[in-house]
Amino acid sequence: MDVHACGHIAEAADARLCRHLLGEDHDHDFVRVLRGRRVEYDLSCTACLDAGDPPDLVVCVGCAGRVDDGVNGFHVGWHGTPGVAERPGPAPGPLVRTPLPEALRGALDLAPLPAGDASAWLVLTRDGALVRWDAGTGATARIAADPLPPEPCVEPGASARPVVPRLHVAPRGDVAAVARDHGRYGAVLDLATGAVTLRLDGGAYREDTVPFAVAFAEHEGRTVVVHRTLWDALTVSDAHTGAEIRTDEDGLLFYGALHVSPDGRRVAALTRRHEPIGAVFSWNLRRWLTGSDGPPGDALCVRSGVWDHTLCWVGDGLVAVPGIGESAASLMDGARVFEAATGAEVLTFAGPRGAFFSDGRRLYAAAPGGLEIWDLSTGERTATVPGFVPERLHAAAGELAGRDGDDLVRLYL
Ligand SMILES: [Zn+2]
Ligand SMILES: [Zn+2]
Repeated sequence: MDVHACGHIAEAADARLCRHLLGEDHDHDFVRVLRGRRVEYDLSCTACLDAGDPPDLVVCVGCAGRVDDGVNGFHVGWHGTPGVAERPGPAPGPLVRTPLPEALRGALDLAPLPAGDASAWLVLTRDGALVRWDAGTGATARIAADPLPPEPCVEPGASARPVVPRLHVAPRGDVAAVARDHGRYGAVLDLATGAVTLRLDGGAYREDTVPFAVAFAEHEGRTVVVHRTLWDALTVSDAHTGAEIRTDEDGLLFYGALHVSPDGRRVAALTRRHEPIGAVFSWNLRRWLTGSDGPPGDALCVRSGVWDHTLCWVGDGLVAVPGIGESAASLMDGARVFEAATGAEVLTFAGPRGAFFSDGRRLYAAAPGGLEIWDLSTGERTATVPGFVPERLHAAAGELAGRDGDDLVRLYL
């Protein structure tokens, strides 16, 4: 081994440093200078970056690690462009366009209903009613009128985010919830009768800062619902009777969006602290219900100012999180894939942005310009569908769907 610029005889780090980042004082602002190959980068102080001096010192793994460990220095941003790997595959498509029935135009949300392989949808109409719609036959059936009470008037603050109602459907399609993201109230409904089985109240403390925490799972033959009951408390209830099964209060974390793995075993939760620091946590839902695990579980990633985003499960064991970096100010478009049970980051690649969906093998990213399809074993982009921005994955029907005006546009996978 060679003696490196830091004076140490040890394994060389991948990242090269500028000379100002060497030495005992590690309390620097630094920039990650991308090399144009995947997410490989070097480390530079801002003065060298401004002067155009490239970081060229080869140092040992320990010396580079102390600058870039998320504790000592402060990562202020990325410079340059990452490498995005392309491996063009067969063109997806075609897109199928279906006009929404007159009564469903301007719908506030729509969510897939598992019904064989039919393209059945639960639609939240513009006046808050719930309607079942079969996109294949065109049949509609009204389930319930608006179940939500008015939201208390909130002083619009600097952090106030739009209050938006959103649908959540249980895996069997027997019950659903409508709850307001960045609001206080929601309701769980039996879809066979339209009856409200449980009123959701997430509490009146900074509920404007997080999407409403609610998700369904199957447990021992019954449908349970996990939902926020205070800013820092999660409750599991029987979705048909509304009976509480258990409640855990944290005292530290605001609970935002919840995502249950396809097999119903684990929860991934987006949370924030007061500071405000966002974190994605995961825990075992089955063991929570028997008392041997529970929220918040293990942190997958922690980022300053970042907690209101989508994520998706990749199969039953992995979670894909958008954005590479430690803070909202230094976030680069990309995907980080974590093993939920261990927190290990198994794949990181630049490029994907927008809402994430997955069929277990591919990552579908709803970028503003259109869908991008990524291979999750290699991080390569295999296809794009310009202009098609899906908002939901209908797993049972095997399609992605989005709206274009008053049309539902679907792509078969
Ligand atoms: Zn420098
Ligand atoms: Zn060294």
